[in-house]
Amino acid sequence: MQSLTILGATGSIGRSTLEVVARHPDRYRVFALAAQRRADELYEQCLRFAPRYAALADAEAAGALARRIGAAGLDTEVLAGPAALAELAAHEEVDAVMAAIVGAAGLAPTIAAARAGKRILLANKEALVMAGDVFLRACRDGGAAVLPIDSEHNAVFQCLPPAGAGARCAAGVRRIVLTASGGPFRGATLSQMHAATPEQACAHPNWSMGRKISVDSATMMNKGLELIEAFHLFGVPGSRLEVLVHPQSIVHSLVEYDDGSVLAQLGNPDMRTPIAQALAHPERIDSGVAPLDLVAIGRLEFEAPDVQRFPCLRLAHEALAAGGAAPCALNAANEVAVAAFLGGAIRFTDIAAVTEAVLRSIGDRPAGSAIDEVFALDEEARALARERLGRCPA
Ligand code: NAD
Ligand code: MG
Repeated sequence: MQSLTILGATGSIGRSTLEVVARHPDRYRVFALAAQRRADELYEQCLRFAPRYAALADAEAAGALARRIGAAGLDTEVLAGPAALAELAAHEEVDAVMAAIVGAAGLAPTIAAARAGKRILLANKEALVMAGDVFLRACRDGGAAVLPIDSEHNAVFQCLPPAGAGARCAAGVRRIVLTASGGPFRGATLSQMHAATPEQACAHPNWSMGRKISVDSATMMNKGLELIEAFHLFGVPGSRLEVLVHPQSIVHSLVEYDDGSVLAQLGNPDMRTPIAQALAHPERIDSGVAPLDLVAIGRLEFEAPDVQRFPCLRLAHEALAAGGAAPCALNAANEVAVAAFLGGAIRFTDIAAVTEAVLRSIGDRPAGSAIDEVFALDEEARALARERLGRCPA
């Protein structure tokens, strides 16, 4: 029986994780559920999964949750604040932590899980992009294993030789190719993108996801962050990482070997597959995902990405090549810009402009070598991005 803490339980990945867990009550026990502020949703999850602990980063929302849980007579103890999330990620009774908080907010509890030597199911790619070396060092020091949840990285993990959890790139690998759907604006013109609304940007053709990653998919910054994620997870230089647009999202990524063999992982675009793979690794369990019907799909198409229309992809390539503070600055500026776009403050095409300005300004600094330095860099990049937002034409 594995005991789980789910960070970001109320989100898209968190809910999919609970759906897989619910199919295997003999294998998994929910120890703790944590999220930001949606008390009503977390309460419903507590009713269903009866965790020992529930935590909300927002103290007021945690108070509301505690009152509902008290009134219902549940045994779940409610904790409040970001420190509580880190505590539950590192708790001695926990075996595995699903890291599914969106953005930089996920870094602190995920690092806590790393230091405590947990099995980390990593969906929160931003944590790895902003603090790759610091995070991986914490995993090594703490004896933590990392299993990728991002569908592309989970696919690569499955196509690499079986070297156990957290496998690094083996000799004989020539290239890793990450597939990208191309997002909702794959066929759009620059002027259509200039006028794009948050609703259009969040209407992903194949995947149902949280709003931040949906916008990242529309700008293709998501694929850019994934290049940096792959660099850290598999130890492959940027020159051997490529992006391939594949609109059907059936081939989740490919690994090419020196002898010309190319291994790919296929499946329906449903996050319950990588979640179940990582939960059960090295075994296999039912995820609830429908069998893949290639006859019904009929065609699998591929095309090169267009960095002219999707400059965020170029910026991420540059940040990966530059190293140092660049990936952290890229991620922070992008988070600020995406939030501003979703709030109606800037245009879709300003996301890349704001991110590029911040990257040019502090991207050549050295990377933070300790977690506090990473947070300071992140904060500085956010401040610069906010300043830059004010200069975007309305
Ligand atoms: P989401 O917006 O649906 O959910 C985010 C979760 O994080 C929520 O539970 C929210 O309460 C929690 N959260 C947000 N800010 C927080 C804070 N400050 N403190 C504590 N909790 C906080 O997002 P999602 O789509 O589930 O994505 C989660 C992560 O997984 C992201 O890093 C994303 O890039 C990655 N990911 C998602 C998918 C997908 O299909 N949704 C696929 C691959 C990777
Ligand atoms: Mg992905």
